Amino acid sequence: MDLKFWRKKKGDEPVVATVEPSVEHLASTPVETSPQPQATPHEATADFEPVSLPKRSGSKGIRSLFSRVKFNLDDLETLEDILIQADFGVDAAEELIAELRAKAKQQSVSDDRGLRQLLIDILTEAMTTENGALNLSAAVQPYVFLVVGVNGVGKTTTIGKLSQWLSEGGWSVLLGAADTFRAAAVDQLATWAERSGAKLVGPQQAGQDPAAVAFQAVELAIQNQTDVVIIDTAGRLQNKTDLMNELGKVRRVVEKQVPIAETLLVIDATTGQNGLEQAKAFAEIANVTGIVLTKLDGSAKGGIAFSIQQKLGIPVKLVGLGEAINDFAFFDPAEFARGLVD
Ligand code: GDP
Ligand code: GDP
Ligand code: MG
Repeated sequence: MDLKFWRKKKGDEPVVATVEPSVEHLASTPVETSPQPQATPHEATADFEPVSLPKRSGSKGIRSLFSRVKFNLDDLETLEDILIQADFGVDAAEELIAELRAKAKQQSVSDDRGLRQLLIDILTEAMTTENGALNLSAAVQPYVFLVVGVNGVGKTTTIGKLSQWLSEGGWSVLLGAADTFRAAAVDQLATWAERSGAKLVGPQQAGQDPAAVAFQAVELAIQNQTDVVIIDTAGRLQNKTDLMNELGKVRRVVEKQVPIAETLLVIDATTGQNGLEQAKAFAEIANVTGIVLTKLDGSAKGGIAFSIQQKLGIPVKLVGLGEAINDFAFFDPAEFARGLVD
């Protein structure tokens, strides 16, 4: 996949007074009463220039589901069972294998190699979407990414990886530490900010309203003409109403200033079908625009990516392939299918 992104051209406009982006120096502005600076939308694409971003490989470490079996037309049930174990869901597994059987017959394919290729093609086609690229191309900056999900799925790590990748591509990045519930969470994001060369906006005191932090992060980014703001949020279970409503508030205060470019829901590939429940709940309340599927390295699962796309129509946009800063990639259906089947 060759992806092109658009960034606002720099230099033509006077830079607004720079605010020192450290946590200590932020003015305390209660969200509800603060003046609402307008975002400066740049509708004319003449203001924007195309930018390429560094490549990241997605083939690293996806474990094959079928390394121990030989594909054989007389025993497609075994393949179906394997798909079910890999969290494709019972119905989807059945449909996929039915399609494999039909195509094999149609094309007179019966050997292991040929059947594998057919399954790769079927999966690739089923997972290809038109809106799979990250939204770094709308004519409004800063691009704001809101990152949500349950505890421990890899939200903060993903933000560090994204920040590094964007910085390498020459973009300016600001991270908002709206996971204010635990001090350690802010420190963890601060470490990623430092490693990736991003600015950080955090809470002024422990437990500050996450929406206030999100607001201030976006406000500062607008003042400084920062390209991308990524907002980290506390992990929350999808069935805890108060915490889910808190996300709604974060969204509202950000969108007083600038539209949210992406709401990324992070799902741990090893969680199984519960990931689908998470996606449903978050999609309802947080208007999720893309899935980040983490911990795909060494996982013999990953079928949840398929289920979420099929059932909820939310594209998987990124995958996490390890704990290190470069261990992520854009989701590439062909690469994913090949990794699982070959
Ligand atoms: P958060 O609670 O959602 O913010 O999750 P963290 O970002 O703190 O990550 C939780 C744990 O998962 C950490 O130990 C990370 O190193 C690990 N982790 C995150 N992404 C990946 C990934 O893609 N692969 C692997 N193997 N580990 C990951
Ligand atoms: P429990 O661990 O299942 O009892 O759930 P908790 O209610 O203690 O919280 C689960 C997670 O949600 C915690 O790890 C926090 O990160 C987060 N959390 C809990 N309460 C709040 C809150 O008031 N605000 C925010 N932002 N996060 C919270
Ligand atoms: Mg975190």
